[in-house]
Parts: sequence; structure tokens; C-alpha cells
Amino acid sequence: MSNDTHSFLKSLFFGEIREEFVFPFPKMDPAVGETVSMIVDTLAKFARDHVKSAEWDEKGEMPREIVNYLSELGLMGLAVPEDLGGLGLPQRGYARVMQEVASHDGSLAVTLGAHQSIGYKALLLFGTPAQKAKYLPRLASGQLIAAYCLTEPGSGSDAASIQTKATLTPDGKHYLLKGSKLWITNGGIASFYTVFAKAEVMEKGEKKEKVSCFMVEMPSEGVTTGPAEHKLGIRASWTNAVHFDNVKVPVENVLGEVGKGFKVAMGVLNHGRLGLAAGCVGVSRNCIKASVEHANERVQFQKKIGEYGMIKEKIARMAANTYAAESMAFLTASLIDRGDVDYSMESAAAKIFSSEMLWECVDENLQIWAGSGYMKEYPYERWLRDARINRIFEGTNEILRAFVALSGMQGPGEELAGLAKAIKHPLQGLGPVSDFAVRKIKRSVMGVTLTKSHPALKKHAAFLEETAVELANQVEQALRRHGNQIHLMQLAQKRIAEVAVDFFAMTAVLSRVSRALEDAGGQPEKCALEMDLAETFFFLAARRVRANFKGMVRNADEVMKKVAEALYERGEYPFDLLKG
Ligand SMILES: Cc1cc2nc3c(=O)[nH]c(=O)nc-3n(C[C@H](O)[C@H](O)[C@H](O)COP(=O)(O)OP(=O)(O)OC[C@H]3O[C@@H](n4cnc5c(N)ncnc54)[C@H](O)[C@@H]3O)c2cc1C
Repeated sequence: MSNDTHSFLKSLFFGEIREEFVFPFPKMDPAVGETVSMIVDTLAKFARDHVKSAEWDEKGEMPREIVNYLSELGLMGLAVPEDLGGLGLPQRGYARVMQEVASHDGSLAVTLGAHQSIGYKALLLFGTPAQKAKYLPRLASGQLIAAYCLTEPGSGSDAASIQTKATLTPDGKHYLLKGSKLWITNGGIASFYTVFAKAEVMEKGEKKEKVSCFMVEMPSEGVTTGPAEHKLGIRASWTNAVHFDNVKVPVENVLGEVGKGFKVAMGVLNHGRLGLAAGCVGVSRNCIKASVEHANERVQFQKKIGEYGMIKEKIARMAANTYAAESMAFLTASLIDRGDVDYSMESAAAKIFSSEMLWECVDENLQIWAGSGYMKEYPYERWLRDARINRIFEGTNEILRAFVALSGMQGPGEELAGLAKAIKHPLQGLGPVSDFAVRKIKRSVMGVTLTKSHPALKKHAAFLEETAVELANQVEQALRRHGNQIHLMQLAQKRIAEVAVDFFAMTAVLSRVSRALEDAGGQPEKCALEMDLAETFFFLAARRVRANFKGMVRNADEVMKKVAEALYERGEYPFDLLKG
């Protein structure tokens, strides 16, 4: 029996490994590969001639013409269909280009990403043919620059609580938008805003205010922007408040249905996170190159520092994590390209993993460069500052962990609730009881079998098989223990999410190395480095997975909550050795 969930990670929470979604590891279509290679070369030349990262960072801005150059190069419509003026790249190609852009400059990647990963993504995903025809050609050419306006002063992670209002005019032809948006990337230069605001809808005979999505084209009376924000990193990107003071928007500019904008907002982010994940890989590759260079050159105690075990361990960890993140991003892109699977959990997992592995890479690279790394003479302190944002925007990693855990547990939770009902009314409920029992028996007696990974990797495949069964069992126990209070049990959610993220990362690695082995005619010595990276990654990830499983039963959660609450009450760290 298999569940009908069309999602790799959602199925995993039932103890199933849907190999058909992740094997064989995807390839870049040759024609797409050719286009991407041309873009990569163009970007390299563009970066040599125009990208002045240190200067931009120091000033806190890049010249506005840079965006014009990017437009001239055709980079503003990477995934827009060709008949609407774009390059029509599939997500695999898009992700690879975003990786490249980020490797040249963090602010550049954020500017380009805010435009097309999120800025006009709602139009691309949810627009009508007429809306697309009206705006996409100008967005793809860079004539219009897009921004995504969701966050407000009182509404960050809790996006459903936005206060911006959209009021229908008496003639029913326009909405008037009123409210302020905060920290909007491209806010200061955009000419096309995707804005989320609450509009009145009738639901079951009742009036309700529900999130809706609007397109605002500039110039529009009543739109003003705040000054550029001074930031820790990505300092040359534009981040501004955007104010809407009774801005008149034609009803034709509603994206999706009125009242269904929350789904649009989340749909955009589920999709857009892939660009961010790929960008992180571009920077971590730079970190590895820089670290290897220093490890090979810097001599201390008459030896190259690269000869020391502690430096080797850092380099190996950076490489294994980068390999995993790169594999996850490409695999997620291929899931999106398939068009028939739910990729929301995978894109969240890729974002969590890649932003955290990058943070570790920029930190370790700086550590390897040590004093020099700390100096502005080198770019490494900037890489560290630029990388930090990735754990915050497009859904903080805390929110995304809760999302991964709760989305994954929803299916098993419903099944258990059905089971509880069936137990109360046994004559009506034999179906759910037997479904659940069969699934559970199958999982515990027959286990889970991976059939498509290469035999040379059977040790790793076995670990995944074991982990899938264990995760499903732990999920069931957590659901039984906490029932519908599970949404309050954040530390259980965190552990479950971390296992799921690592599981997806390990699967991506296994799939990629399996393909490498097949391409090498099954001769492991021909892909020795990839085999060793897989070995390293599985070692690191398995350690985390085991710790998370152990933590489900033995932990210090309650005492830690007590400590936090005591500090909230006292308002500060209460000890001072001066006072005895
Ligand atoms: C440089 C930059 C560019 C940005 N660009 C854009 C943009 O283009 N468009 C846009 O709309 N927004 C943008 N943002 C906003 C960004 O998306 C938000 O900062 C982010 O969503 C988090 O919101 P917040 O900062 O208000 O944090 P909060 O939501 O206030 O969260 C504070 C902390 O509490 C945690 N937290 C919150 N709720 C929970 C919970 N339920 N459980 C556990 N932990 C929780 C968070 O993870 C975080 O650690 C940008 C932000 C920055 C800094």
C-alpha cells in the first residue's frame, strides 16, 4: 500500500521513500546547459568589468546602471516563457544561473532574486494570460523592476496578520491600498510592486477581511518609499519601506482570487526559495576555493597550514556540505520542473540546509584566513556579513522548521485521528483501522527498501531505509503523545524537521553519487572523490539524525524552557561575580 501524497518528504512521514521522485539524479538538458554556459561566461565578463563589491559595500549602494546592464544582458526574465520575452529557462537552469550570480556578488544576487525569484513570481505562477501578456514582457526586459511587498512593521513571520487594507471603490472598478511595507528589497527602485493587503470577502454569509494580492505599476499616485536602510550585509542592495496611501489599483490587477492571497504569498516563497538555496551554493564554492588557496600557501610551524588535521577537517566538511546543498537545490529544481509534485517541503529543506551550511562555510573560511580574514583588505568578512541574511528572509529558518515538521505530520495526524474515530465506532471504521495497521505492519516487518541506489552505496541506502522507518515511528509517537497540541511542541517539531532536512540532503547525495557511479560504468575508483564526499556527508548527517532521535525521548527541553522564562521575568542575566 502506498499513500497518494505527491511529495517526497510528505511520503517520508508515512515511512515511505518515493524513489521515483528522486532517482535517477536529474541532468541538465543539453540545450539548457548551453544557454546557461553562455550566461555564465557573460556574467564572468560582466563581473570583471562592472562589479565593484568592496566599493559598493563601503558606500552601501551600487550604481543604478548596474540593473540596466543586467537587463541588457537579458538576465531579468530568466524563467519567463520565450513568447513573453524571457529566456524560458526551466528551474534547473534558473538555479544554476542564480548560483553563478551569487558567486560574483551577494547584493547583485539579492537584487536579481527579489525581481524574479519573488518580485513578479506571483504573476508568473498565478497571473491570467491577459495579466501576463500585459506585464511579463516589460518585466523580462528590465523595463519594469519588481519587488515583493509582504512584510510590515507589525507583521514579519506572521504574514497572515498584515494590516495593509484594500478597499473596493463604490463603482467596483478599483481597490484603494492603504498601509506600509517594511524592508522591501528593490523597494527604492521598483516600478512594479506585488503587494499583499487585506480585502473584504463574503464567507458563508459573513464579511471577512482576507489577504489578497495586487499588482501596482508605477507611477501610481500615493506610493512613496523610505530612505535606504543601513544593513549588516548585502549593503549594496536596495532595502526600503514602501508606503501606500490610498493607491488606486484597477480590479484587473488582483492576482489570483480576492481573499486567496495568502496562498499566493506562500506559493511564491515556496518557489522562490530555490533561487536563494542555489545562491548559497555559489558563495560556499567561493569559500572552498579561498580556503584551499590559503591552506596551500600559508606556512606556520614550518608547514603549510593545509597539512594540519584541523584544517583538513574544515575543508572536507565545507566540501561535503556544499556537495549536499548543491544536490538538494538541483533535485528540488527538477521536482519543480516535473510540474506534478508538491515541492513545498523540499524547497524549505533546501533553504534551511543551504543557508546554514553557507553560514558555517563563511565562518570556517574566515577562520582559516584568521587575522587576514578579519581585515577589510580581503573579501571574507564581507562574505560572512552578506551570508547572514539567508537564514532570515524568505521565511526564517525557525518558521521553516515548524513548516516542515507540521506539513509532514499533517498526513499521519489525519490518519491517526481517523483511527481514533474508527476505534470509537468499530463497525463503521474498519477501513481506517486496517489501512493504518497494514501500513504499520508493512513498515515494521518488511521495512523500507531502496532499490534504485547504486549497490556500491548500500551502506548509505541502508541508513536511509532505517531512518525512514524510525522517523515514521517517532512521528506517530509524537502525535499520540501530544495529539492536537503538537503545534505547540516546537522542540519536537525542530528535531523532526532536522531529521527530514538531513534525510532529503542524504537522499540527494545518494542519488547524485549513484548516477556518477553509473556514468562511470560502475567503477568506484573513477568517482572516488564523490564516494568520499558521500561517506563524509553521511557520517556528519547520521550523527545529527541519531542525536535528534535520541532527543525525542531524552532531552532538557523542560528545564531549558524554565531557564528562558526565569530570564524573561528578570529581564537580564542575573549573576555578577562582583556581587558575590
Ligand atoms: C535585508 C532584508 C530584505 C528583506 N526583503 C524583503 C522583501 O523583499 N519583501 C518582504 O516582504 N520582506 C522582506 N524582508 C523581511 C523578512 O522577510 C523578514 O525580516 C522575515 O520574514 C522575519 O520577520 P521579522 O524580521 O519581523 O522577524 P519576526 O517574525 O519578528 O521573528 C523574530 C524571531 O522570532 C522567531 N519567530 C517568530 N515567530 C516564531 C514562531 N512561531 N516560532 C518560533 N520562532 C518564531 C523568528 O524565527 C525570529 O528568529 C527583508 C528583510 C531583510 C532584513
